[in-house]
Amino acid sequence: MVELPKPVRELISFFERLPGIGPKSATRLAFYLINAPSDFSKNFSRAVIEMKTRIKKCRVCFGVSEEDVCPVCGNGKRIQTTICVVERSIDMLAIENLGDYEGVYHVLGGVINPLEHVGPDDLELDSLFGRVRSMAGNGHGVEVEIIIATSPTMEGEATALYIKRKLDEIDQSIKITRIGSGLPIGADLEFADQATLSRAMEGRKGL
Ligand SMILES: [Zn+2]
Repeated sequence: MVELPKPVRELISFFERLPGIGPKSATRLAFYLINAPSDFSKNFSRAVIEMKTRIKKCRVCFGVSEEDVCPVCGNGKRIQTTICVVERSIDMLAIENLGDYEGVYHVLGGVINPLEHVGPDDLELDSLFGRVRSMAGNGHGVEVEIIIATSPTMEGEATALYIKRKLDEIDQSIKITRIGSGLPIGADLEFADQATLSRAMEGRKGL
């Protein structure tokens, strides 16, 4: 087998690190770029750099945003006292794409996973509890609902229980729900189809 030039091998190794891309696809993508007009490669790399410099985390929900506060948090029509807790921004996008969720979000940045050395402090949990604390017990009789939409994996369930326990300590009157069953067990939320995800949101139960 011929050895590929170093720049090509390097590009392949980057593609291989992307989710869902195996060595074969990585090689195909690299060769696509080799043969594509040079404008394409230039614009492609510029788009990656621009995304990295212009995209930040929303300071309220930690979802991806171009501004300090994302369009969902900044939308006065959204119900600010209903917070859907998700693992990643891509899960927020999946629920947003359903088109009927009226609350806001909180992006944890992952799940508690002792095997991969991810503890509660590595996630946006304190910020979640801070948000809830500022709403709960405000004396206005506003119902606060926290929808825990972590994936139905072992780690996702453990994280959901951790959140539930902490929220109970903050205020017993907070309504805590977990997205319904029907989602493929062990799979990430982002892979659920729209109908399944929609049913899971509607069928959420008290935790
Ligand atoms: Zn936000």
